[in-house]
Amino acid sequence: MEKQSLLSLFSSNPDKYYKVSLFDEKGFKRQNCKLCGKFFWSIIDKESCPEHDNYSFIGDPPTSKRLDFVNTWKELSSFFRKNDHEVIQRYPVVCRWREDLYFTIASIVDFQRVMNGKIVFEIPKNPLVVPQMCLRFNDIENVGLTGRHYTSFCMVGQTCNADAPGGYWKDKCIELDHSLLKNVLGIKSEEITFVEDVWMGAGAFGYSLEYYVRGLELGNAVFTEFEGDEHNYRTLDNKIIDMGAGLERLSWITMGSPTSYDATFGPVFKKLVDIIGIDIDSKAEFLSRYFRIFSENYSNYQNDPRILKTNIAKELGLSYEALEKIVLPFETLSIIADHTRTLLFAISDGSLPSNVGGGYNLRIILRRTLALLARFGWNLNLEDIMDLHIEQLKSMYPELKEHKNDVRTIIQIESDRYSSSKERMYSIANSMLMSKKRPRVEDLIRMYESDGITPDLLLETGVIEKIPPDFYLKLAELHASHESKQIPVIETVSGLNPTRLLYYEDGSIREFDAKILKILEGKYLILDKTAFYPRGGGQEPDFGSIEGIKVTDVIKQNEIVLHKVQVPYKDHFLENKIVHGIVDNIRRRSITKNHSATHILNSAARNSLGSWVWQNSAFKEEHYARLDITHHSALTKQEINQIERTANEVVQRNLPIIINVFERSNAEEKYTFRIYQGGAVPSNNVRIVNIEGWDVEACGGTHVNKTGEIGLIKILKTERIQDGVVRLEYVSGNNAFQYVQSQDSQLLHIAQSLGSSKEKVIESFDKVTVENDLIKRKFRMLVNRFSDNMAAIVSQKATKSKSGLKIYGIYDDEIGDDYYIALGEKSIDIDPFLVYVALIQDQERIKVIVFVGEESRKIIKASRIAKEISLKLGGTGGGGTDKFAQGGGRDKGKIHDCLKNLENLLTDILDSSEKNG
Ligand SMILES: [Zn+2]
Ligand SMILES: [Zn+2]
Repeated sequence: MEKQSLLSLFSSNPDKYYKVSLFDEKGFKRQNCKLCGKFFWSIIDKESCPEHDNYSFIGDPPTSKRLDFVNTWKELSSFFRKNDHEVIQRYPVVCRWREDLYFTIASIVDFQRVMNGKIVFEIPKNPLVVPQMCLRFNDIENVGLTGRHYTSFCMVGQTCNADAPGGYWKDKCIELDHSLLKNVLGIKSEEITFVEDVWMGAGAFGYSLEYYVRGLELGNAVFTEFEGDEHNYRTLDNKIIDMGAGLERLSWITMGSPTSYDATFGPVFKKLVDIIGIDIDSKAEFLSRYFRIFSENYSNYQNDPRILKTNIAKELGLSYEALEKIVLPFETLSIIADHTRTLLFAISDGSLPSNVGGGYNLRIILRRTLALLARFGWNLNLEDIMDLHIEQLKSMYPELKEHKNDVRTIIQIESDRYSSSKERMYSIANSMLMSKKRPRVEDLIRMYESDGITPDLLLETGVIEKIPPDFYLKLAELHASHESKQIPVIETVSGLNPTRLLYYEDGSIREFDAKILKILEGKYLILDKTAFYPRGGGQEPDFGSIEGIKVTDVIKQNEIVLHKVQVPYKDHFLENKIVHGIVDNIRRRSITKNHSATHILNSAARNSLGSWVWQNSAFKEEHYARLDITHHSALTKQEINQIERTANEVVQRNLPIIINVFERSNAEEKYTFRIYQGGAVPSNNVRIVNIEGWDVEACGGTHVNKTGEIGLIKILKTERIQDGVVRLEYVSGNNAFQYVQSQDSQLLHIAQSLGSSKEKVIESFDKVTVENDLIKRKFRMLVNRFSDNMAAIVSQKATKSKSGLKIYGIYDDEIGDDYYIALGEKSIDIDPFLVYVALIQDQERIKVIVFVGEESRKIIKASRIAKEISLKLGGTGGGGTDKFAQGGGRDKGKIHDCLKNLENLLTDILDSSEKNG
């Protein structure tokens, strides 16, 4: 569906769609833009629409009120409250309720849920206003530069279901928005222009009025009235108003400051400027002029803002460099303020910077901020800047304070990671500088992806002269959306009623009678009801039998359960027959315990580690379960012990597990978005599994009635499986008991082998270790004592080459390398012309040991020889000093060859070093 054709559809009947009562009352006239053809409404006559207007409010605001960010919200929220709106708290910026989004990108997203690929609206209060922080990463490079772009901004959402109690439609909406501008912000009606536009998305569409003051778009009121397309559409049962206004802009228009950042970050800037000692106040007038020209012309220079800057410099009578000297520190300060605020909200709401998913963009902006601080030599740390944001925003977003320490922890870990990899990054940058290669955008992206090198660092080191304007955009595009999960479809099942799910009605049912409704592919039975749990939510399916025939898999497609049976012959089962099903009780009990254990461990991990812990994914089968959690580092033994201990305390407390079905909006309100540990729930009703006083999750799985039934939870292993994700593997119930028993018998076996008992096994083991060390020491002493004689033999046996080297090579697969190292050292002591090479078979690997005597060392180095031989043996190279070096490889077939041609190999080395030397 084309936006343009929709626009002409609505514009052809402006009285019906766009004209609101306020326009008649106040004398707003419909006009046509001479420049772009758009229609707009204003009191005064205008040639063109406000998109072509100058930002004449900069330095000269159209009101006598001066409202900073927080005060704008105070005034605005009290205005809407007076006008019968419920003012609700913001939703998380991490969008857990939509599978297709990482972050909340607009206020209306709060109230959208996806069902069967369609968006449905759930508006908790009618009408309402929400100060929704939104995260968007498609404008990273514009932040700071344009004076108005952000990676996070507050979208004030005025939202209303027109057809529900308390609802209103466009007349009232525009009347309120006009009154907001006029009475709350103090802007005259003559300054306001409404532009006609359209909005569409997810099968619905509507018309909209964008409102502008002096060229700045302040808000957009969308009236979603239809579903379908422009040829075939019908009116929605529930028409929705979605008015979104940028709080940063509303504040800016009253302040008239050079940029929107001054208005938004005022108190934060003030402190930062004091600390780093740059002077912005005396430049305010200059910056006003600069940003006014810049923002008026920016749209024509998006691809290369440097050209625009050069032109402005000329206009202001400065060199480009002199202009940058004034503007750049201010731009940078704005970037830092924006990026830290974004990180503060995202991490507070449970997201982690990483190399995957939504965390990707967080790491980009975090590293960019650190690189910028380094580049400008500003002695600021991110945690302190975030504290300034928390302080400024405390009345609007008091919840930021709660997670303050967690955010600090994460920022410190990420900063440390960055600085520890910095040395390597600088050396890569330096070698690029030497090679004089100029990297392209693709190279820069590859360098960021593989080595974490930000273009800011390359700019700092002089490898590049400017950051390509599309770098961050391209990088963000690479990691934009979720992968979609696909379930294999056997055959489309249609025309059948949903299967009655007995396992939800009564979790204790193991035997049942049911009617066969349909048989697919000869082996998938569809019954009218079932007690078999199908694979889903990371829980493996029940097994058992139907009429004595084994059930080997159970899956669910939409509302239908399919039982895969091992049919002995065709037509064994017949449709419409009543059959008897038996669910394998032991398997079900084990899986059920593992599932409840998973919920317990998830909260145990969060309590032990920090609020950033979320379930990333989980898998529960009969003898094994695993839980992947979001966490920044590998777990320490101490942390694992604490999680295990906490989980088992919950088991011992024997807490009841209560399962209830809630209306989704009620569940979200009652238990917050924490319930979506397993992802968003695509239905109106949510099954809530509540381990009382411990953990609440939306979950469709089977659970024990009381935690005590689990008996025991034992963590087998933990592993950091990817950046930001740690895997816990564990068993519960009888499996845990068996595991402990088998560990115990292994311990017994070891104890017996050591001729000891379980109680004394460590003691005995230590004793054996000490004895082992002693034997090794004795062996070395023995070697030392005899090595004088052996060394003399080596010297005798060595062959003299043309180049004057005395070469000795040997292979051995019996005596270890200790002996040959001692021998080599001794041999070159008594023969300074000796080159000693020993190849020692060491399990799968051949170890290379090289010693070079003092005289020969003048022309050939041990490290070089070890490297060449290792390469010949299929290894990757060796290392060491001129005198002694080691290496290795795995190609046994080359051993003989190496020793036979040792002289040639050394001659080659001599030749090549002569050439290079
Ligand atoms: Zn226009
Ligand atoms: Zn679950």
